[in-house]
Amino acid sequence: MFIGHFGVALAAKRLAPRTSLGLLVFAAEFLDLLWPIFLLLGFEHVRVVPGITKVQPFDFYDYPFSHSLTMVLRWSLAVGLLYYIVRRSARGAWLLGALVTSHWVLDFVSHRPDLPLWPGGPKVGLGLWNSWPGSIGVESLLFLAGVWLYLRATDAPGRKIPWSFWSLLGLLVVVWVAALLAPPPPDVSQLAMGGLLLWITVPWAAWADSYSDPEGRRS
Ligand SMILES: [Zn+2]
Repeated sequence: MFIGHFGVALAAKRLAPRTSLGLLVFAAEFLDLLWPIFLLLGFEHVRVVPGITKVQPFDFYDYPFSHSLTMVLRWSLAVGLLYYIVRRSARGAWLLGALVTSHWVLDFVSHRPDLPLWPGGPKVGLGLWNSWPGSIGVESLLFLAGVWLYLRATDAPGRKIPWSFWSLLGLLVVVWVAALLAPPPPDVSQLAMGGLLLWITVPWAAWADSYSDPEGRRS
């Protein structure tokens, strides 16, 4: 799952209007932000296996730290706690923690049974990636619903949506479509280096969101 996670981050703005979209994206994508780093460090492994699912050519056979459920719950707690310590907002802390976990839930829907419940434990996944229409349909719906909820949450008299916001949406759609159409990467290190580019979306989302609270009452 790619663009669906961003849909959830955008939708979360409704529940935490004063939290920057950059942070919401950071939490919703946290596991995939860690993953390329763990690949490059050799802590986790993946194989390129064209045809393993209809939509994605990757065999995620070893990613216990970034994508096993028990570790994900710990990451959620860590992100939530850190936010609480820095910002003293219980609401924001709960929401960011829930966003980290939401990533695993959506991955559970998309992936074949390759997501461990705990490191070394049984693996689960509903395998939506075995259906092109299902994958495109579910991700598009999540994304469009997120955009709609975000625009409603940030609605204000006289507001003009800046091009930074539209550029974020354009970037995400282009990256998503390109990743779907591109041939499989030649090797895992290229995949990991490409994965690191995901970090760009965090400051980009913060920039896209900077108009939504003109008085700067962020928390
Ligand atoms: Zn993931």
